[in-house]
Amino acid sequence: MDYASATPIHPLVSLVMNKFTKENFANSGAIHDFGLKAKKILEANRKMIGELLDAYTNEIIFTSGATESNNLAILGVVGKLAESKLLLVPHIVTTNIEHASVLEVCKYLERNKKAEITYVEVERNGIVDARNIRKALKPNTVLVSVMYANNEIGTMQPIREIAKEIRHYNKKYPHPTSPYCRGRRKEGIIFHTDATQAVNYLPINVKKLGVDLLSFNGAKIYGPKGIGVLYVKRNTPIQNIIFGGGQEFALRPGTENVANVVGLLEALKITEKNKTKETKRLTRLRDYFFKKLMQTFTDNNIIINGDLKNRLPNNINIAIPKVPSDLLVIELDAKGILASAKSACKAGDSKSSHVIRAINKNIKDTDGSLRFSLGRGTVRKDIDQTIKTLSEILNKLKKWYN
Ligand code: PMP
Repeated sequence: MDYASATPIHPLVSLVMNKFTKENFANSGAIHDFGLKAKKILEANRKMIGELLDAYTNEIIFTSGATESNNLAILGVVGKLAESKLLLVPHIVTTNIEHASVLEVCKYLERNKKAEITYVEVERNGIVDARNIRKALKPNTVLVSVMYANNEIGTMQPIREIAKEIRHYNKKYPHPTSPYCRGRRKEGIIFHTDATQAVNYLPINVKKLGVDLLSFNGAKIYGPKGIGVLYVKRNTPIQNIIFGGGQEFALRPGTENVANVVGLLEALKITEKNKTKETKRLTRLRDYFFKKLMQTFTDNNIIINGDLKNRLPNNINIAIPKVPSDLLVIELDAKGILASAKSACKAGDSKSSHVIRAINKNIKDTDGSLRFSLGRGTVRKDIDQTIKTLSEILNKLKKWYN
């Protein structure tokens, strides 16, 4: 019940990775035979990953994970434009439910007066209105960063609509004239999306999505951990944020982890092949979960967080007033059910999640929320078992938390 935080590696993924490591351990930067072989495999895999995203080969940058991809996207663009010394204060538009790897970068830039940030609030259903993104755009806006799907409540954001709004804005104001924003390139505002949670279920054609930058990782798609991708559309102004050699088109120095790249491609191929079928299967299971929840907890005031339909097919997130989330996670764990209170990256933080607070202003830190996330191994009886166990736990806790 926690596939949103990690997925098991698909056996075929392990197989291709093991085969590669057994046959080749060379540095893909070396110019001898072994090195060249590793480089050839790296580039062939990059090309195929690019094809799956409808991107050119040199638009695919390998990183250590989605956190790094998001950091590179934001800091890389702001850094590049700042270096041109034309832009006084770049402005970034994002939302109040982004993952920490976007929000913390924005807060850092804000604190250090390196950028001005607008955090557009999502609606009560956890979805941002594209028109509100449009309203936030200003002459010095350089970047918009909106996640494709939220990791806690699974809500899907209108990426195509936002891209359209940005395109219209760019057309309407093609050449910013104010000296304040001379640094903005004439092509206009850059659009980044964090697609980490979306890749399993939603289309990832970057052209159709209309994005300039897109991040994801191997860990959530039944692939290896410690590998991420940043798609960077040609001519996007961006610079490296760590310094070293010239790997990854000088955007991400460091010896490439070719085994991880090979694993990532295999994982992505399997995901793409099964996307439609798996999305349908999990949507049915998710809706069954919601139905059972409503039938079982008639007297408890359980709230479903996020839109009921416009959410990832594997996501269930509920608020349980007055019962601490971590206690519920521990009680479920003791019964063999692994769930999450909030994003694993923020677990241990005593405050309620920033995502739940964003959609429910009345939520208190003492109120709990629980995320169940389904995956390839989930079947109907797992859901029956989860609901039954949750019901027993809440009955047991009732006398203390009412
Ligand atoms: N963005 C989202 C939406 C995520 O769910 C995660 C993983 N929890 C990340 C970014 C960070 O990914 P990684 O652990 O690969 O750095």
